[in-house]
Amino acid sequence: MRSKYQRVLLKLSGESLAGAKGTGIDTERLGQYAEQIKEIASSGVEVAIVIGGGNIFRGLSGATRGFDRVKGDQMGMLATVINSLALSSALESVGQPARVLTAINMFPIGEHYSKWKAIEALKRGEVAIIAGGTGNPFFTTDTGSALRGIEVEADVMLKGTRVDGVYTADPEKDSTATKFSEISYDEVYNRGLKVMDLTATALCKENGLPIVVFCMDTPGNLAKVIAGEPIGTLVY
Ligand code: UDP
Repeated sequence: MRSKYQRVLLKLSGESLAGAKGTGIDTERLGQYAEQIKEIASSGVEVAIVIGGGNIFRGLSGATRGFDRVKGDQMGMLATVINSLALSSALESVGQPARVLTAINMFPIGEHYSKWKAIEALKRGEVAIIAGGTGNPFFTTDTGSALRGIEVEADVMLKGTRVDGVYTADPEKDSTATKFSEISYDEVYNRGLKVMDLTATALCKENGLPIVVFCMDTPGNLAKVIAGEPIGTLVY
């Protein structure tokens, strides 16, 4: 397989794991993602993954229901660990070795994350699933994936979503919205586009980590992005 990238950080939202049900983990969707990830990993691309937890719990929405925000965020971080374990299990069941590393020490559920452990796993051909976000409340997994992508020296952050790129407006709400093939970090900010939260976008900009936003729900798309096909939107 032709590959534009050698090492990638793939960000998957928790919601996308929920599939059509909208909550929890859809095993069919999980299996489909595992196949796509195996396809690129077995061709030699090094794959680190950060998964969200929104399909299980979000700290901010917990706070509106009376939970302490810090405890709610900790619940959200634990949700990302649940999703990471599910994805690692799905990867192993299709024959793709994977290792879960956690931002907060919770051995033996995963190994305590360090940049070097992640890179060691990647060099061994294992998918490194980096769980627990940044390990701190008041952050998101978008920021966690920007941070981990920069730390492990990924060539790009691939943001796999259910939408096929960045649009002028929300294409699910506005039929006149048009898609960008590429857009700068500054334009994302100036237009107030909701690609990622500001902290994550600023980290990527300051450290020169480009982002490709693409639809992960169409099988084969991940391999197309890796091959450099112009699907999705490049944020640079
Ligand atoms: N979270 C956190 N710190 C982090 C990453 C995540 O506190 O560094 C918590 C936060 O409560 C968040 C939840 O984990 O709402 C799930 O993450 P996120 O909302 O980013 O998941 P996604 O929207 O990608 O499913």
